[in-house]
Amino acid sequence: MKENSYNKYSDWHDILSDSINTAEDLAKHLPVDISGVRRVTESYPMRINPYYLSLMINKGDHIRKQAVPDMREIEDISGSDDPLCEERQSPVPNLTHRYPDRVLFMVSDQCAMYCRFCMRKRKVGRPFTVTNSTINSGIDYIRANNTIREVVVSGGDPLLLEDDAIDRILKDLRSINQIEILRLHTRVPSTLPQRITKNLADILRQYHPLFINTHFNHPDEITNEAALACTTLADAGIPLGCQTVLLKGVNDNHFVMQTLMKKLLTIRVRPYYIHHPDIVRGTSHFRTTVKNGLGIMRSLHGHASGLCVPQYMIDLPGGGGKIPLLPEYIKSVSDGKIMVENYKGEVLAYPE
Ligand SMILES: *Cc1c(COP(=O)(O)O)cnc(C)c1O
Ligand code: SF4
Repeated sequence: MKENSYNKYSDWHDILSDSINTAEDLAKHLPVDISGVRRVTESYPMRINPYYLSLMINKGDHIRKQAVPDMREIEDISGSDDPLCEERQSPVPNLTHRYPDRVLFMVSDQCAMYCRFCMRKRKVGRPFTVTNSTINSGIDYIRANNTIREVVVSGGDPLLLEDDAIDRILKDLRSINQIEILRLHTRVPSTLPQRITKNLADILRQYHPLFINTHFNHPDEITNEAALACTTLADAGIPLGCQTVLLKGVNDNHFVMQTLMKKLLTIRVRPYYIHHPDIVRGTSHFRTTVKNGLGIMRSLHGHASGLCVPQYMIDLPGGGGKIPLLPEYIKSVSDGKIMVENYKGEVLAYPE
């Protein structure tokens, strides 16, 4: 496939409908183990759209790993399908109510690409997981609970819904008195940036305060198309954040992560979280150590603008919630002073 051959498409629907979802099709573009890919896709669906495929072909292994099924997904017997107990904390289907003031509301079971490391592998890409009826019961639940101040509209990818469906969901949520903040979680700026159309931006801008957190894992995902998508959203007044997943072989090194965080700022996206990968069955080959994650955070603090330093989060198994982890900068605490280490590694006294 030639570079940018997806430019022949004039509409994101056409890009999406030309996605690869069988091992045989994938083998026409990349050297893959056909029978292995076929076996994995019996358990976990694959979708690689022509835009992301062009990145995989042009940029290499760190991009491919995110999208190409790997036998280790079905050989992995560690972890659980739902370590964060999203289902147990789900009062109605596809809505998780863990924190008092905000809920996670899954309004789509589709994504523009199925990430192999997905923490919702158990659900994404499975048709009929989300229906009009689950969406309506979610909205009813939110309306009936007056402690909820913020709705995190998620999936799957909510922006794979049609414009009028997105409009209707946001309109319904905005009509609920106690809802102050709307937030969308979407990966399309990195996996199908063509989805961010002027029309979509004009719909979204009606529902402020509305925030979007997107998801980039490697600087090579920040293309001209991705930059244009983020500009379109930012110009509609939408503050953009990024939730990156720390992934072995993709971004688990200082240089790649620093470059990614700095480059995100240049496309007006402010890094929000780096997530340590959850203990989800089928994803153990992406896992790295917390020690490595803390080292990466240390390489950011003081070496990169504070604007591009996110929080490093672990999500506790069992539904205990997210916790930020910090490198240890306090070396000792005594009467009258603490000893702290700065970004150069110098240990200095701070008087109390
Ligand atoms: C992550 C998460 C949220 C949002 O958490 P923030 O720290 O506000 O980004 C809300 N509900 C659930 C169930 C979550 O997992
Ligand atoms: S876009 Fe998000 S929800 Fe969809 S497969 Fe990737 S990580 Fe999972």
